[in-house]
Amino acid sequence: MNAQPKASHYINGRYVEDEGGPEMAVIYPATGETIATLHGATPNIVELAIEAARAAQGAWARLKPVERGRILRKAADILRARNDELARLETLDTGKAIQETLVADPASAADALEFFGGAVASFNGDYIDLGGPFAYTRREALGVCVGIGAWNYPIQGAGWKSAPALAMGNAMVFKPSENTPLSALALAEIYTEAGLPDGLFNVVQGYGDVGAALASHPAVAKVSLTGSVPTGKKVLALAGSLMKHATMELGGKSPLIVFDDADLENAIGGAMLGNFYSTGQVCSNSTRVFVQRGLHDRFLERLAERTKKIRIGDPLDPETQMGPLVSKAQHEKVLGYVEIGKAEGANLVTGGGVPRLQGLEGGFFIEPTVFSGVTDEMRIAREEIFGPVMSVLCFDDEDEAIARSNDTEFGLSAGVFTRDLARAHRVIGELQAGTCWINNYNLSPVEIPFGGAKASGIGRENSLEALKHYSQVKTVYVETGDVQSPY
Ligand code: NAD
Repeated sequence: MNAQPKASHYINGRYVEDEGGPEMAVIYPATGETIATLHGATPNIVELAIEAARAAQGAWARLKPVERGRILRKAADILRARNDELARLETLDTGKAIQETLVADPASAADALEFFGGAVASFNGDYIDLGGPFAYTRREALGVCVGIGAWNYPIQGAGWKSAPALAMGNAMVFKPSENTPLSALALAEIYTEAGLPDGLFNVVQGYGDVGAALASHPAVAKVSLTGSVPTGKKVLALAGSLMKHATMELGGKSPLIVFDDADLENAIGGAMLGNFYSTGQVCSNSTRVFVQRGLHDRFLERLAERTKKIRIGDPLDPETQMGPLVSKAQHEKVLGYVEIGKAEGANLVTGGGVPRLQGLEGGFFIEPTVFSGVTDEMRIAREEIFGPVMSVLCFDDEDEAIARSNDTEFGLSAGVFTRDLARAHRVIGELQAGTCWINNYNLSPVEIPFGGAKASGIGRENSLEALKHYSQVKTVYVETGDVQSPY
């Protein structure tokens, strides 16, 4: 298997290599084999990328928004036309099942390019009537923005960050996760092919130190990070100390509350979507499933039946429903949490082991796992695991479910399953989370804002909210009479 790109970085409309940077092996998580070798950015590469972005941004920002949008929409069309090949690349890079990447990864990036390509032309400032004089506001680009990605949705993340940034007239330097560096390069090629002027979307590779070098560069106006809470705290502190704009999309330990009156099969479907999609590596996952006592036992029984049927295996096989975890380190971490759950006294309902898969012995597979009898203090109920490990907790009444749901430093997402709509809205109103679902889970179309409360983040991606976060307001007061000066 070979997925070697032409070079490690993409700067000013072309591939660039600098072998002086540290070697980065790209591993296919289903077999453990190396499918590409890249180099992390040297300080010289970081400078080249930021300088290219800085030089290109001014002219881009002066274009009519509709002209910028046209290029983004063209890039969206190319993404859709190459969906299958990009999905395959994403599966090789992440190990996620191809049946997911075919519908969820390049497609979601394309949605973002299309949405922001269209929306930006009607995203304007305000007119403020001052009874004679008036004022207006302009929404202006910030300048050079840095995007730093996580490894679970590499091309989606690159699309979600670059589309609103570029639509607003910014330039972007994007650093993918060191685990999944490939698809952002493919996106950069597509932007060039769609007619994006050179220098506006640059990709540099590297570990956290490269992210920190980008985020602290004096020419950078904004940093948007998707990653864990500890990384977010570091990057936000750095950005704050340098007075840069920042968006933080971080981790979670989100609650899903299932009331007795919920449709059982739908609630189980939602809980499974919220724990097993992308092999559980989704930030908004509902890893704490609170089930009301009257439904609890039936819920667990059917959940176990359905979970055991999940087809785990070769991620390139379209029948496979769950691929491996992204890396050996993540595999060890998730298996470690299974042991912690057992040691803490939770009941292992199903899963927890490493499946034996012929020809894929070197892969980072784990069975989808359900623990019941989980209590709020257990580490598996408090810490983000980022793997297919669901904790089921039992509750009696609404107030208790709300209080226990909110008892966490995180606040990314939350969900409620009930047929009682008044209760659904009342409970959602009390939950401390940025993105919530009623009677479904984990759907994030580009039209709706996505982001977290509390330690799960600051700022929002997608929807018109994202355009706000990639722009700044300039206020212009206009006098229509004489100046009333006391002097
Ligand atoms: P991570 O925090 O380890 O790394 C994220 C990115 O930050 C990587 O590109 C990494 O190289 C970079 N980085 C690390 N240290 C840095 C530093 N000091 N300065 C600048 N950049 C630095 O996260 P991960 O393991 O790649 O991803 C998993 C995490 O991401 C989970 O916590 C998950 O919940 C979160 N996540 C959040 C969202 C969201 O939208 N809220 C989406 C996906 C993933």
